Amino acid sequence: MAIVLYQDQFIDRDQAKVDIEDRGYQFGDGIYEALMVYSGRIFLLEPHMKRLERSARELDLALPYSTDHIIENIKKLIELNHLDDGVVYFQITRGAAARQHFFPENTPAVITGTVAGKIRDLSKRPQGIKAILADDIRWLRCDIKTLNLLGNVLAKQKAHASGAGEAILHREAIVTEGSSSNVFIVKDGTLVTHPADHYILNGITRLFVFDLAKKMNIPLAQREFTVDELLDADEVFITSTSNEVNPVLQIDDRLINGGEPGRIEKKLIDAYDAEVERIRAVPFV
Ligand code: PLP
Repeated sequence: MAIVLYQDQFIDRDQAKVDIEDRGYQFGDGIYEALMVYSGRIFLLEPHMKRLERSARELDLALPYSTDHIIENIKKLIELNHLDDGVVYFQITRGAAARQHFFPENTPAVITGTVAGKIRDLSKRPQGIKAILADDIRWLRCDIKTLNLLGNVLAKQKAHASGAGEAILHREAIVTEGSSSNVFIVKDGTLVTHPADHYILNGITRLFVFDLAKKMNIPLAQREFTVDELLDADEVFITSTSNEVNPVLQIDDRLINGGEPGRIEKKLIDAYDAEVERIRAVPFV
């Protein structure tokens, strides 16, 4: 039986209950993070927690516990579930609506957390996916990692319905990001990705790829690019916590790089792999 986190308690999943008036459940009024775990170690923990704090500030949401305490609880959740390789998800909502209205100071935000093992074989890096193009119909604060995800969910559904793994979103022919990932193109040896503004989530993996690119002297430009540039790119890849660096081999009917992972993608995947292997070997504290 999986153990889940509810506030400061660790309980059997079957026993977990969320208030029926919880604002996260009712309105998507909450924030979340997903963390990758390799051999029991959390990957890129610090930037994820910094982003969580920013999301909370943007929504004027008081975290129910200090960041350090949340980290402690996440580590305990990993331990109690004997999670070796997998993902930890946690959400923080504003709490129950009626009580929030009358007694806002007595209505703490609610944190829940779950783990998922075996999302795929994490000893192997992602091998490439097919994507579709879809209109970006989301609200205009995509920079905050909130539970307001219906536009993302519908785009992903559309992708899955056509046998693809991701939907690449665009607003008026400008590519923004994927439904649950950031999008990069490679053109003439340079990485290009949408700037970090209100139209995209500033992915932790996106920023990690910036670091890798810098170390490997791969030039990088943060600028808007069009759907035509996307389809005409030498390589296209997505980044996300669970997808890491994943080549996009086909977009709708168009093959990218002949349907094979490209040279720069392979270099980035190898560098990512090396970092994961390094994390796996770090002693527990
Ligand atoms: N963009 C969106 C809309 C996402 O949902 C995600 C991840 O869930 C990302 C980008 C990638 O962010 P990260 O690398 O922090 O997982």
